[in-house]
Amino acid sequence: MIGGLTLRFFAVEAGKGVLERLKKNSILATDIASQQWCELQMELNYVHGREPANKAMAAGTVVHKKLQAEVYTTISVEPQGYADFLYKEAYENYLSLRSLNEKGIGREIKVYGSISGYKVSGKIDELKKNDGKVMIVETKTKSLNGKLVEKNEGIKEISEATMRTHKMQIMLYKKLLDDLKSKNYTYQNFYNSYGIKRMALSEKFVAQLDLLDIDKSLRTFDSLYGAMYQQIYAMPDISNSLRLSYVDRYTGKEFASVDIDYNKDSFDKSLEDAMVYWTGGRSARPVEKDEAWKCNFCRFYGKECKVWWSK
Ligand code: SF4
Repeated sequence: MIGGLTLRFFAVEAGKGVLERLKKNSILATDIASQQWCELQMELNYVHGREPANKAMAAGTVVHKKLQAEVYTTISVEPQGYADFLYKEAYENYLSLRSLNEKGIGREIKVYGSISGYKVSGKIDELKKNDGKVMIVETKTKSLNGKLVEKNEGIKEISEATMRTHKMQIMLYKKLLDDLKSKNYTYQNFYNSYGIKRMALSEKFVAQLDLLDIDKSLRTFDSLYGAMYQQIYAMPDISNSLRLSYVDRYTGKEFASVDIDYNKDSFDKSLEDAMVYWTGGRSARPVEKDEAWKCNFCRFYGKECKVWWSK
C-alpha cells in the first residue's frame, strides 16, 4: 500500500516534467485525441514546433470561422494580455451558450476541466438541442477534391484509424461538459486553477469594451463567469449520442455524418491509458507495427523518428 502511494506520488511529479518539457501549462483535448493516432508524433510536434499552416489547413479554418459566424459575432476587441484574452473568450462563450439556450444552437464553445489533477481544455465546434437534450457535434474538414459524394461513399473516405481520434476527442468533450454541468468542475475550480484572483483587465481593453457598449454588470470575472456558468446549468442534459460531421474543406458542404454512442467504460479506459503518458508513467509510444503505414504521412519519419524506418 505504502509502495503504491509512493509510486503514484512519483508518477505525478514525473508528469509535471512532461508538461514542463513540452513547455505547456495544460493538456488540450486535441492532444489526447492525437495520442490515438501516434503519441510520439504528438510529442514531437511540441518538441520541434508545429508545421506552418498549409493551404488545406487554411481552407479548414475558413470553414470553421464561417460556421461560427452563423451563430454569434465575435467581439472585435484586441486583448492586451492574458486577463483580457480570458475575458474575451468567456464573453464569447457566454454569447454562444445563450444562443444555445435561446435559439437551440451554439458554436465554438470553450470547455475547461481537470483530469487526474491536470488542467484540460478544449473547444467544442457545436452544441445543439436535439430531442430535448444537448447534442455535441464535432466538425472535421477533409478534402474531397471539391467532389461531393453520396453519404455511404463519404464514410468510406474516413478510415477507422482517423475516426478513432475523432471519437476520443468528442467523448472527451462529453466528459468535460458533463463535469461542468454536474458541478464537478465549478467556477471556483477554474478560479483557483487559472489564478483569476490576480487578474485585472487592461485600461486599453476596458476602453474597447466601453466603445462596444458591453454590459457594465458583466465587467468582472466573477460576474461574467457567473453568467456563463448559469447558461451551462440552464441547458438540458447532454445527450449520449454524439455526432461527427465531415465537411468538404473547399465547398464547406457536409459529405458524411456519423452518430456514435458515448461508451463511458471504454472511454474511461482509453483516457486512463492516455493519462499514463502525461503522469510520466511511460515515454511517448510510437505506432504499433500494423499501423506503421501512418509513418508515410509523418514529417518526422526517417528524421527525428526511425522506429519503423528501414530504408
Ligand atoms: S514516424 Fe511513425 S512512429 Fe514515428 S512519430 Fe511518425 S507516425 Fe509516429
